[in-house]
Amino acid sequence: MGYVFALPETPTVTVVGTKDNFPVRRIYCVGQNYANHVREMGANPEREAPFFFSKPADAVCADGSKLPFPLATENLHHEVEMVVAIGKNGKNISESAAQDYVYAYAVGLDLTRRDLQAEAKKKGRPWATAKGFDNSAPCSTLHRVDEVGHISQGKITLSINGETRQEGDISELIWSVSEVISSLSAFFELFPGDLIYTGTPSGVGPLKRGDKLIAEIENLARLNIEIV
Ligand code: MN
Repeated sequence: MGYVFALPETPTVTVVGTKDNFPVRRIYCVGQNYANHVREMGANPEREAPFFFSKPADAVCADGSKLPFPLATENLHHEVEMVVAIGKNGKNISESAAQDYVYAYAVGLDLTRRDLQAEAKKKGRPWATAKGFDNSAPCSTLHRVDEVGHISQGKITLSINGETRQEGDISELIWSVSEVISSLSAFFELFPGDLIYTGTPSGVGPLKRGDKLIAEIENLARLNIEIV
């Protein structure tokens, strides 16, 4: 049996230190995981449990991409985030075992149509159009745990046209990587190929055509993206 259309290409991310690519299965994102960003969005960091949303796997795009300004927004925002790449399957994973499921770390951008998100929040509607659009998940090359160890601290920054706009530290995550994996895996069985965007520090703001973005986690990963 064939298919009525050609099978779509599997989205992938390159992996440092190997010629093989990481096939992306799903993209999960954590909302509001740094206290200073929770406050800038008008919420209370003390009372919010972790919550999740997702993006299509083919929203991922590579380091060096030139991204067309997306459709249907006048307020495209950047959110720099650490990305966790999952390397084995499991559900109801305990916090103490969670690190065993991490294959690699990267830096990424959770691009957001903030105007659509504000409207969705106001009306109690889903975030799909605000978060899950084409090219909304830029991701750097992956750095394997067996090369870099587990990442629990380090400066995370975003600059636009050479000017720093977001700055935080991985140690400021409200929900650690282990807590995020444990919590997420209580809702969904995780599989190799899943990416988790772990939340953004404060300083989110609008992007325009011509902006050159550099997202970076110190001593780990760097991602260059241009909006065209
Ligand atoms: Mn985010």
